[in-house]
Amino acid sequence: MNRNDETYFEAYTDLEVHEKMLCDNQRNEAYRNAIILNQDYFRNKIVLDIGTGTGILSVLCAKVGAAKVYAVEASNITSITKRILKENQVQDVVEIIEGKVEQVKLPEKVDIIISEWMGFYLIHEGMLGSVIYARDKFLKNDGVLFPYLCKLYIAPCTLSSYFLHWSDVQGVQMNSFGIELRKLYAKKPKIMTIDSKNLLNDGSCAYEMLLKYITIDELEKISYKLLTCSRVDGMYQGICIWFDVVFPCMNKLYSKEIILSTAPDKPKTHWKQTVLLMQDDIEVEEGSPIFGMITLKKSSNNSRFYDIEFEILDPESENHPIPCHCYFTKC
Ligand code: SAH
Repeated sequence: MNRNDETYFEAYTDLEVHEKMLCDNQRNEAYRNAIILNQDYFRNKIVLDIGTGTGILSVLCAKVGAAKVYAVEASNITSITKRILKENQVQDVVEIIEGKVEQVKLPEKVDIIISEWMGFYLIHEGMLGSVIYARDKFLKNDGVLFPYLCKLYIAPCTLSSYFLHWSDVQGVQMNSFGIELRKLYAKKPKIMTIDSKNLLNDGSCAYEMLLKYITIDELEKISYKLLTCSRVDGMYQGICIWFDVVFPCMNKLYSKEIILSTAPDKPKTHWKQTVLLMQDDIEVEEGSPIFGMITLKKSSNNSRFYDIEFEILDPESENHPIPCHCYFTKC
């Protein structure tokens, strides 16, 4: 294991990290719904749970009748997981395999891969690479991934209440600190909760991936040209990033999509939202064009992290989309 991996897996021996995930009801409910609504599909299937952690997903799969669940985990948490399997009387169905999924051996290919691999802004932590690796090695040709589709969204936002805080901290003006902080978060995204009323529009889908087909190379660098406009009058101060993941639904009686969304207008999750702060405020009004290029590039220091940049583009020199809702004269 390299040093980045060691630090990464060490973090998952921390009970508080698992506590955070196990107390995230939106997360847990989405996975549970995906399993329960597909219970006929799970029955008698061979399942691989990548990064089983404390085993919650494996237990749910076993409870709906999976024939076998291979629960792979590289962190030193599995002595607890084994006890949890016994608590739930699924120890005969769920087999814990200790080690990195890239290094373990399975006696057979699997029908279903389930995994909760998502990090901040979806791809932070780089666990998706492990899922792709395991998909190519262990998933049957007609196998299914839970979740199977992911979408990354971005929206311009205002952060006035956040900046206002620095003008009065218990009666002390702290603007100089606020200015420095802003410089920091222009380079290093901030994980925070954004109220949907602070978004300047509903957001644009910057990236969409089907897990069955995505390749590791595609995750090296993701770029998206944002050609949008403000829907309100306000102060454009940052870019808010969030994601949705979608689960397959083989249940003909259920017509809605099974989605786990981390959008600002949805109930909070432990992923919150990710925000890139702009260096300066830009005053916008309804119809003001907001053009820019977002790039998420694997960091050269640590392949589990991404460098995220947002470059403002000039609406005068860009081709506007059709239709374009901005008030700009060219449209
Ligand atoms: N499935 C659990 C834990 C999700 S967190 C739950 O839903 O609560 C992700 C887990 O995957 C962590 O425990 C981490 O140690 C494990 N993991 C990450 N990459 C892995 C890899 N390549 N091989 C095995 N386990 C991995």
